[in-house]
Amino acid sequence: QDQSQTVLVTGSTSGIGLAIAHTFAAAGHNVMLHGLENVQQGRALCEQLTRYGVNAGFSNADIATETGCSRLIADTREAIGHPSVLVNNAGVQHTAPAHEFPTDKWQQILSVNLSATFFLSKEILPAMRAGQWGRIINIASVHGLVASEQKAAYCAAKHGLVGLTKVLALENADCNITANAICPGWVETPLIQPQIESIARNESVDMDAARAQLVGAKQPLAQATTPDAIAQLALYLCGKFANTITGAALPVDGGWTAQ
Ligand code: NAD
Repeated sequence: QDQSQTVLVTGSTSGIGLAIAHTFAAAGHNVMLHGLENVQQGRALCEQLTRYGVNAGFSNADIATETGCSRLIADTREAIGHPSVLVNNAGVQHTAPAHEFPTDKWQQILSVNLSATFFLSKEILPAMRAGQWGRIINIASVHGLVASEQKAAYCAAKHGLVGLTKVLALENADCNITANAICPGWVETPLIQPQIESIARNESVDMDAARAQLVGAKQPLAQATTPDAIAQLALYLCGKFANTITGAALPVDGGWTAQ
């Protein structure tokens, strides 16, 4: 399907989501931006996308609740129309051992990283099925496939997201709708900055050394992936050569999960 699509990317005001928004807009697709920024900041990001000659919209609905998810879909339909591509990318992180993990952080991570994908998919699937074509791309993580210490909520949510992706793939295969999870290792974005800063502080090393230590501890190929590389894979999954890729969890992780 190389015609212009209507693409909703959650959490697209920063990091991987912003790169996905730019990549899809540059390829001629209309894009709905979304994140917790204010309307003015959202408008500035939209202006960057309309330079590609496509339509763009922005919503700052908080998708930690089902009501917020409904608002995001309503805002999207009003701004650019019904989405034929849904990229569930918004995510949050908090690290602590399970026996010290704050309950509110557990709830927030499960809500944003997992439940929002369920609510958004549930809401858009009837129209997507009626249109007999659609793409659901869930930005999971290597932590949807393997675990690390200190990440009880994140690993639970991302493993759940990989499972949800498989169910959506099975249920909607009859309507040319694919659902896939992308499972990145380390990607250089604001999300991982606190973890780099913590190594720099605890080991008294500079940020470059701390970043190298963080990435190298898990990835045999010790380079962080760029947000643009994740975005190109998402775009590929919407192209005509990816018609039969569905229900997959695709690692982009420098060999992390090969071990
Ligand atoms: P980021 O912190 O740069 O961006 C997160 C985005 O989500 C922002 O736009 C933010 O506004 C939005 N967001 C957060 N909570 C929200 C809420 N309640 N309602 C609405 N929007 C909300 O993060 P990133 O690193 O680009 O991560 C994007 C996705 O990729 C996440 O799902 C993350 O788990 C996943 N991921 C990241 C890495 C990495 O190394 N950075 C690795 C694997 C997976």
